[in-house]
Amino acid sequence: MPVSERAGSAQSAARPGSVGHWIGGRELDAGDGRTAEVFDPACGAVTRRVSLAGQAEVDAAVRAAAEAFPAWAATPALRRARVLFRFRQLVEQHSAELAALITSEHGKVFVDAEGEVTRGLEVVEFACGIPQLLKGEFSEQVGSGIDMYSVRQPLGVCVGITPFNFPVMVPMWMFPMAIACGNSFVLKPSERDPSAALMLARLLTEAGLPDGVFNVVQGDRLAVDALLAHPQVAAVSFVGSTPIARSIHETASAAGKRVQALGGAKNHMVVMPDADLDQVVDALIGAAYGSAGERCMAISVAVAVGGVADALVERLAQRVPRIRVGDGMDPASEMGPLVTAAHRDKVRSYVDAGVAEGAKLVVDGRGLVVEGRGEGFFLGGCLFDEVRPGMRIYEEEIFGPVLSVVRAADFEEALALVNGHEYGNGCAIFTRDGDAAREFAHRVQVGMVGVNVPIPVPMAFHSFGGWKASLFGDHHMHGPEGVRFYTRSKAVTQRWPRGIRAGASFTMPTLG
Ligand code: NAD
Repeated sequence: MPVSERAGSAQSAARPGSVGHWIGGRELDAGDGRTAEVFDPACGAVTRRVSLAGQAEVDAAVRAAAEAFPAWAATPALRRARVLFRFRQLVEQHSAELAALITSEHGKVFVDAEGEVTRGLEVVEFACGIPQLLKGEFSEQVGSGIDMYSVRQPLGVCVGITPFNFPVMVPMWMFPMAIACGNSFVLKPSERDPSAALMLARLLTEAGLPDGVFNVVQGDRLAVDALLAHPQVAAVSFVGSTPIARSIHETASAAGKRVQALGGAKNHMVVMPDADLDQVVDALIGAAYGSAGERCMAISVAVAVGGVADALVERLAQRVPRIRVGDGMDPASEMGPLVTAAHRDKVRSYVDAGVAEGAKLVVDGRGLVVEGRGEGFFLGGCLFDEVRPGMRIYEEEIFGPVLSVVRAADFEEALALVNGHEYGNGCAIFTRDGDAAREFAHRVQVGMVGVNVPIPVPMAFHSFGGWKASLFGDHHMHGPEGVRFYTRSKAVTQRWPRGIRAGASFTMPTLG
């Protein structure tokens, strides 16, 4: 597909080829303000320019959200849910368009982008049950003629700051829950793939969401800093890399805001000697190289236990070079490009570092050239064997199509590796032994665990989140934790007059 056609569907109402903000129910171009290039990673061309918000745009978005909040919070939950039901319908109707937009800016293959939209939709479906989810607790007769109830109420203006790798799904972990709970929302998407956020904003408006309840400010660090410092922002949800997550958590908490900040990952898959090797290899190929490894739940370390390592590496070495790498819009492609040339070069430099540190590079994807796409940001799948703790390729998140195999003598050594790592987002064990699987799930220090499931992303009605340096804050995202994060509890104790006037009491009330 030619670049102009690929880019067409995202063009801004404000200026051709520009991506603006969405404030108070309409798209705004920042005029002559700062902009950043947006690439089509498959061909390396700049297809759009995104406006980068400064203080004025952030102020306008937060003001719009703050003004919309009281009426939206007072709207019955059932009516809020009806807007989400319509939004759900519209997203489904436009899912191919959304997926193509994701592919055009992120690079992942189209069917994977469709899967991303579906996982986002599932959160909307969960949020449609908000009247049930917001049901409070009631205790009758806690004292004579006295009842007590607890309700959960919205917080106010909530902010979402999201990463490039899921431009639809990660925002949809946040805003459907936030607005279902009665909050208003300001989304600051990644400046690398900013267009999908605008399309979601348009669909929300079409679904009947009042102006100002959902806003988008495009931007970089300046926009984030302005949002974190804004006195009218009540809560911040962040997903991105660990150093930024840590700093967002510290800054926003110090400013008195509620914060959940999800960070990076280094997900291990433990392969026990009794595992079904065909199943393991299929799982690893998809989980390590799908979306070019740019997934926070990607498996980047395979821990081969006992004697399984040689056979595992041999089979992977045959499969990895056969992964079909190409333009994400080509139905034959299994893996697309990396998001930018800078990111591709960073991933490649990790491969160089692994070689320099003495790991064995079994498959080297650095020389890959995709025919007709010479300027695209491609990197072939890479496979390392004999990786050890202490090496940078083991300790750090690479976020690219690079799988490291680490050898462990037994289950305890494998478990100790996983538990000793700084990150604790996801992990998996592949085995036929129920006892080993149960022991692993029970003792592993990681937030999301798969048993013969390589990418254990929780369904929308459970909650998503890691442990250790993969999450800062108390709450995971969506599911029941999402409702808790986006609401606060109020406990009401009530007594209705029965004609008895006891007079003032100066002792600590003991209701019974
Ligand atoms: P990133 O941390 O570079 O950016 C995330 C967001 O923060 C973007 O909106 C970006 O504009 C903003 N940002 C960047 N630098 C900033 C700064 N100095 N100050 C304030 N804001 C800043 O992450 P990314 O490269 O877009 O995404 C990849 C990362 O996200 C990986 O580390 C991946 O593991 C992580 N991720 C984690 C999860 C999870 O659930 N834990 C999910 C998806 C992605």
